[in-house]
Amino acid sequence: ALSTERLCKHFGDVEVLRDISVDIPAGTTNCILGPSGSGKSTFLRCLNWLEEPTSGAITVAGVRLQQRSGKPAPRRELALARGKMAMVFQNFALWPHLTVLENIVESPVHVLHRPRDEVRAEGLALLERVGLAAKADVYPHTLSGGQKQRVAICRALAMRPQIVLFDEPTSALDPEMVGEVLAVMRELAAGGLTMLIVTHEMAFARDVADTVIFMDQGQVREISPPSVFFTNPGTERAQRFLQRFM
Ligand code: ATP
Ligand code: MG
Repeated sequence: ALSTERLCKHFGDVEVLRDISVDIPAGTTNCILGPSGSGKSTFLRCLNWLEEPTSGAITVAGVRLQQRSGKPAPRRELALARGKMAMVFQNFALWPHLTVLENIVESPVHVLHRPRDEVRAEGLALLERVGLAAKADVYPHTLSGGQKQRVAICRALAMRPQIVLFDEPTSALDPEMVGEVLAVMRELAAGGLTMLIVTHEMAFARDVADTVIFMDQGQVREISPPSVFFTNPGTERAQRFLQRFM
């Protein structure tokens, strides 16, 4: 569903991503682990071109974006590729002046030009799935962090993405709310959604991921199934990283 070829990103002289080549099959759950500053967020942001890669290529559901120095990516391909992906952020990024349901309905109506009634019905069904049907008409500031993040996930899904990118979706939550968000993500994984999840939730990665992608210093150091990564990591760097969580 998604692949990168030798993706690089520099900020000035600083090399933040070096030659990242990954292949994410459709329907898989992929957890990106790695120490702070290793480039995990930058990698996700490059995938949907929120951050422009310095070089390399990305293929999303058959749409290929190749970075050529000095030339912007072709608009049409960029829009197509972005339309296949949705992103969920650590800080929810809900619109404060819109109700929960309006937050979900806004983009499908204005970006995808879908009929509002149909999207509202779909939005309510999504809220039902995450246990928040009763909150459709309230404003985000009245919700707990865990509830906000579940709404943000509904908002991402309402765009009918083929791939959802999560950047530390539970890091800003009080501990007692982490579980309810992970439970929703677990269900999405079981439902066959393609997911790329930056997380520090090791138990979740171990139980739910098909593949662990371990990053360090801007490079992918290891790609392995969790059964291997958590018991017998192939690099000394990953061993040291894991020791902090055990
Ligand atoms: P964390 O676990 O703390 O979220 P991360 O793995 O997501 O870390 P990134 O946020 O991708 O790491 O940052 C990787 C490196 O790139 C860091 O050294 C960071 O300082 C640098 N960096 C990120 N964004 C920029 C920017 N806009 N300009 C300059 N340097 C940046
Ligand atoms: Mg980050």
